[in-house]
Amino acid sequence: MAAAPSAPPASSAKESLREDLTCAICCDLFREPVMLSCMHHFCKPCISRYWRGTQGRVSCPQCRKEFSCRQFQTNYLVAAMVEKVRATTADTYIQNLEKQLKETLENYHLKREYYKNSIVRDKDKMDTIKRFGADLQARVTSEFRALHQILDQEETCMLEQLKREQVDELEKVERHLEAVELAKREIEENIRIFQQASTTNENIILTELPQPRPCLQVDIAPEIDLTALGNKYMAPLQYITWRKMFKSLKPGPSPLTFDVDTAHPSIRVSRDKTMAFECDGMILHLDNGKRFLQCVNILAAQGFQSGRHYWEVEVGPKPKWDLGVASEAIDRRSRIKLSPENGYWTLRLRNTNEYSAGTQPWTRLQVSSFPKKIGVFLDCEERRVSFYNADDMSLLYSFANGPRVKVFPFFSPCISGNSQEPHPVKLLHYPPVTLSD
Ligand SMILES: [Zn+2]
Ligand SMILES: [Zn+2]
Repeated sequence: MAAAPSAPPASSAKESLREDLTCAICCDLFREPVMLSCMHHFCKPCISRYWRGTQGRVSCPQCRKEFSCRQFQTNYLVAAMVEKVRATTADTYIQNLEKQLKETLENYHLKREYYKNSIVRDKDKMDTIKRFGADLQARVTSEFRALHQILDQEETCMLEQLKREQVDELEKVERHLEAVELAKREIEENIRIFQQASTTNENIILTELPQPRPCLQVDIAPEIDLTALGNKYMAPLQYITWRKMFKSLKPGPSPLTFDVDTAHPSIRVSRDKTMAFECDGMILHLDNGKRFLQCVNILAAQGFQSGRHYWEVEVGPKPKWDLGVASEAIDRRSRIKLSPENGYWTLRLRNTNEYSAGTQPWTRLQVSSFPKKIGVFLDCEERRVSFYNADDMSLLYSFANGPRVKVFPFFSPCISGNSQEPHPVKLLHYPPVTLSD
C-alpha cells in the first residue's frame, strides 16, 4: 500500500488558502467576492471601482480578458470560505486558540507530573514488597534453621549414644578376648615346656614332671545382645524424634490453665483448670477485683507481654463463643464491646456458623469448615494476634494492630440458653505428644 502523502503543515495550508482567497486588486481577503466569466474572483467593490470610468468593454485585471458587458456572479461558496478564514484569523479566535493550547499543554504537564509520581509510587511499592519479601524469607529461613538445629542435635545425640553403647559392647568382648589370648599363650608355653621335657634327651630318665605355669581362669564368654543394642535404634525414629522436637518448638502450644479468680459467677471451672463450663446458677465468690461481673468471661492464669505464644482451645460443637486475648487493664465490672480499642482482640462464633472478628463493627468471616479447635497466636513483638483453624492450621483472621500491653488469653463460653448439656471451652494440653525427659 502506498504511503499517504504527508499533509502540509497546518500553517502553510492556511497561508495558501488565504492567498487563494485574496483579491488581486486590494490584496486583502475578498469582500463580497464575485466571479467574472473568466473565473477570476475579486471583491465586488474592487472590481466595480476598477471598471468605473471605463467606457465600453471592460477587462479582467488578472488575465486581461475583455468582456462586452459588466457581468459578474456572486460566489457564495467563496464568500463562506472567506468568512471562515477571516474568523480563524481574528484576534479573539487566536487568543482562544492560544488559551486552549496553553490549557492543553498545562494538562499534559499535569498528567506527566501525575505519571511521574505514579511511577515513583509504584517503584516504592515494589521496593516495599521486595524488602518485606526479603524479611519474610529471612524469617522462614530462621524458623527452619531452628528446626534443622533441633534435628541435628537429636541426630548427633543419638549417634553419640549409639557409638557409646557399641563401644561398651565391644569392650566387653575385647576384655574377654584379651583374657582368652593370654590364657592361650600360657597354655602354649606349658605345651612347649612339656614337649621339651618329652623330647630333649631320651637317655635321661624323667624323674619328675616339669613345673607348668599356672593356668589362667577365663570367665565364660560374654553373651552379645544385639537385640538389646538394636531395640532403641530400630524404633520408629522419625516419630520419636518428631515428638521430642515438639517441646523445643518456639512457640509450641502453651499449656494454659484458667484463672478461677477471673471467672464470672456463672462459669464453673474443672479441677485441673483446663475446662470452663457455663452453669445455670451463680457461684458465690468473694469479690477479688479480678472477676468478670457482667459478661460471662474468664481469663487464663498466664499473661504475656513479650515474645511469641501459641495455644489451642477446643470449642467442640458449641454454637456460640468468644475467645482471644484481653488486656490486663480491661474493666471487668461493666458490659464492654469486644474490640481492640477496648483492649480485646477476639474471634467469635454466633448461631453455630457465623464467625466474626471482634472489631467494631464486627468483621464477618467466610469460614467454610467448622473448626472444633481454635489456635491463637500472639506475637508481642510484631503486635499481631492471629486465629487459626487448629484442625488444619488455616488462618481465620489476623489483627495487625495487636496489643502493646500485657494481655491474658480470654474466653467467653457464652450462655447457650438451651436446655442441652453445655459444652465446655477446653484448654488443650499435649501430654500425649510431648515426651518427658
Ligand atoms: Zn478587493
Ligand atoms: Zn480573468
